[in-house]
Amino acid sequence: MDTIDITIIGAGVIGLAVASCVAGKGRSVFIFEKNGSFGQEASSRNSEVIHAGIYYPAHSLKAKMCVEGKHLLCELCEAAHIPHKRIGKVIVARDVAEIPLIESLMRRGKNNGVDDLCIIDKRALNRLEPHVCGFCALHSPSTGIIDSHRLMQVLLSKATEREADILYGVEVLGAEKVHAGYVVRSRNMQGDESSFFSRMVINCAGINADTITQSVGINVQQAGYVVYPCKGEYFRVNAEKASLINRLVYPVPDAVSLGMHLTPDLAGGVRIGPNATYVDRNHIMYDVGEQQRKEFFTLAQRLVPSLEEEDIFPDTAGIRAKLQGPGDEIRDFVIAHEDKKGFPGFINLLGIESPGLTASLAIGKYVGTMVNEVLH
Ligand SMILES: Cc1cc2nc3c(=O)[nH]c(=O)nc-3n(C[C@H](O)[C@H](O)[C@H](O)COP(=O)(O)OP(=O)(O)OC[C@H]3O[C@@H](n4cnc5c(N)ncnc54)[C@H](O)[C@@H]3O)c2cc1C
Repeated sequence: MDTIDITIIGAGVIGLAVASCVAGKGRSVFIFEKNGSFGQEASSRNSEVIHAGIYYPAHSLKAKMCVEGKHLLCELCEAAHIPHKRIGKVIVARDVAEIPLIESLMRRGKNNGVDDLCIIDKRALNRLEPHVCGFCALHSPSTGIIDSHRLMQVLLSKATEREADILYGVEVLGAEKVHAGYVVRSRNMQGDESSFFSRMVINCAGINADTITQSVGINVQQAGYVVYPCKGEYFRVNAEKASLINRLVYPVPDAVSLGMHLTPDLAGGVRIGPNATYVDRNHIMYDVGEQQRKEFFTLAQRLVPSLEEEDIFPDTAGIRAKLQGPGDEIRDFVIAHEDKKGFPGFINLLGIESPGLTASLAIGKYVGTMVNEVLH
């Protein structure tokens, strides 16, 4: 049976960031990706926002990884010429009742180390965003946007330069604990199955991360590791109206998501979304229905009143890998070496929803430290 040092399951931005940090030092590192290329799931179906770190509870991994990750990301963008822009963002309070929410977001952001936030009044908001309607807003000048595809290309190059290998069209079916490692079972696109021995397994499988965890022998219900796929759909604003906003425009967040926002992209377009709907993992579809127009238009027009219903049209969708099920409290990322559960060498990443793209490099670094403790 073939023997390798590290198996990474999944070539989204997280698997690639992890690979770029753990490869090298003479280790044999293989990334397994079930699709025909990297980054075809959540990592290419998101808002491409570099978040500042405002929303997440103090001391959470989300807060820590987001704030550290955005700095690492900006350095990498400069060094590797990855297209990005610090366009800034406003979180808009529509009326007096929403002011306490804005104030608590400001306190939370400051606690997390985001030191450039300020609350601006209606007049200042109008100067920044003449077409946006609001009573006041939280202004985050350092929030930005990034070309996530280019980021993943750069991470993949870094990993392969350090001699990591990537295998496309190979699905990992499961991993079984044996002495000093794991027997990993996989299947290629022709349906051929094979097994190999891996000293470590790093689970970056997005919405399938709980299935991989269960296969290793961890009871995902008991561990609180069930992943609830949650679809986020986008509409696009037509080109003539895209210039109505200059920066990211958000409402105050709701219990499940950051709220449907208007996001400029690097090509000069603007998207509205994402909404948030829990979906069945066996029926994942990325379609966005025309019938949603009313919902998107109503929310977008509250922020930008001069938008008209025919100015928007259905665009893409992505699926969040949430540990927070319907009606549950907000959950943090899980990034754990599962040795205490009896699975040394198995590193588990679950619930890597937003701000996972922003946090990706910090997560890679964090996992790199865990791996160094096991492989020395
Ligand atoms: C709608 C939406 C908007 C978002 N907006 C933002 C944002 O603006 N800013 C931000 O920072 N974050 C954002 N995020 C979060 C961010 O996109 C994710 O945190 C990040 O992409 C997660 O990366 P990942 O590698 O864990 O997952 P994925 O990109 O889903 O990658 C997982 C990979 O694992 C592969 N895989 C799964 N099972 C197997 C298997 N058994 N064998 C082999 N391969 C397997 C999949 O094919 C996939 O390629 C958003 C997410 C969504 C859905």
